[in-house]
Amino acid sequence: MSVTVRSPGVRSIYGSARSAKALGSFSRPRANMAVQSNVISVAPILTKLKEDCATPLPVLRHLAAAMASDMRAGLAVDGGSDLPMILSYVDALPTGNEEGLFYALDLGGTNFRVLRVQLGGKEERVITTEFEQVSIPPELMFGTSEELFDFIASVLAKFAEKEGGEFNLPDCQTREIGFTFSFPVKQTSVDSGILIKWTKGFAVSGTAGKDVVACLNEAMQRQGLNLRVSALVNDTVGTLAGARYWDDDVMVAVILGTGTNACYLERKDAIPKLQSHNSTSGGMIINTEWGAFSNDLPLTEFDREMDADSINPGEQIFEKTISGMYLGEIVRRVLLKMARASELFGDSISEKLLTPFMLRTPDICAMQQDTSEDLEVVGTILLDVVGVSSNASGRQIVVEVCDTIAKRGGRLAGAGIVGILEKMEEDSEGLIFGKRTVVAMDGGLYEHYPQYRAHLQEAVQELLGPQTSTNIVIEHTKDGSGIGAALLAATNSKYGHNF
Ligand code: ADP
Ligand code: MG
Repeated sequence: MSVTVRSPGVRSIYGSARSAKALGSFSRPRANMAVQSNVISVAPILTKLKEDCATPLPVLRHLAAAMASDMRAGLAVDGGSDLPMILSYVDALPTGNEEGLFYALDLGGTNFRVLRVQLGGKEERVITTEFEQVSIPPELMFGTSEELFDFIASVLAKFAEKEGGEFNLPDCQTREIGFTFSFPVKQTSVDSGILIKWTKGFAVSGTAGKDVVACLNEAMQRQGLNLRVSALVNDTVGTLAGARYWDDDVMVAVILGTGTNACYLERKDAIPKLQSHNSTSGGMIINTEWGAFSNDLPLTEFDREMDADSINPGEQIFEKTISGMYLGEIVRRVLLKMARASELFGDSISEKLLTPFMLRTPDICAMQQDTSEDLEVVGTILLDVVGVSSNASGRQIVVEVCDTIAKRGGRLAGAGIVGILEKMEEDSEGLIFGKRTVVAMDGGLYEHYPQYRAHLQEAVQELLGPQTSTNIVIEHTKDGSGIGAALLAATNSKYGHNF
């Protein structure tokens, strides 16, 4: 495998004892007639699932090309395709020369992180980083905008009091902060963005339609805190900036966690919708919001039902097929259908198996790691998590269902990455495939699910071929987005820093 990974234990499932054993369960006659009849009655469901989820090379090629052409259409005009292709206004990337003391705030869910970094330039690089993670009191998720931002600013003020070390700035000097904000915003410059709507369970009043940078700056002012936002960034953009600081070959960043997204460095002259920006030379990071991709994906009845029952039907179809929030739920829906059609789990259906999102992606991942003869771990998880008892042959089927969904997800994610790379290569021959190119990868799904990771890497290699794939490196970067935001505050500094 030419794709290199800096995370532990990639284990390919190809040719493993597990796959052979699982397949064998269909061909080998079994003594137990009840088991036999269960296997027979669920076999057509499994066969159909595998057909519907199939991602042979021609399908992947088609999807990579569709991703590339959707990217072009989204760059031409807002609303031109499923892909929003959002302008980040980040057109200067960290070089390694950045020096000084910078802050970052990462707000994207029920926890937020504040971070302080001392940068020492090319030689010393990152001298120290300090961070704190704080959970947002639930009542503030339903309060007013002022209450939420005042709370965040008060945490920042306490954190800033502990400042020290080599770059201890005089009190009168304004500190700068990079603000990672993972909710939908309409960005108008690198340091302003209008909140379109809160998501992820937030229902804060009075922020929608406002500039979130102004909200934070005003709250910091109310706290008497001499700190100002210099860069507002999406977490994917922060990941790219953070990885680029260490490696000039980073061109793309992908997040595969609860949700998914990707961004990349585009040439400004290849962004027709960027008419009014001062210069059309150089590059700008484009936030693809690729979770919205939907063209010609191999979908099943389970995906369609899950989408119809979701809070955003018809939206984020790629995300619903490849990201951590959904893989376990798709498997649950398959198992429920199997339980209804057979006595795979006995003759009654548990309440838990009927409950949406009861089976989570870490559970299906854990089931796939079970190497015991009778798949005891699978049995325990099925009992504990979805309340069903199972025998060895039933568990083998469950593992096959998990792998079918993880395989489709990983391979589709791989095709998406290749789509981005091919789009960039088509515009500038040799830029991507003619030299080493790094895709920075963050997110718990990629980090913790070895089979998913292996399927993704294999799809990338199949699509690119052995020669080209030696130039493409997928590098796992953990939590790079926080430091990336601080670096972008430095790169976009307004207070006298000049790198
Ligand atoms: P987020 O995307 O919420 O910012 P992370 O990048 O840490 O957070 O990813 C968390 C997601 O990663 C979880 O929602 C889950 O879907 C997935 N995940 C976490 N642990 C595992 C695991 N052991 N196996 C498979 N997926 C996992
Ligand atoms: Mg994250």
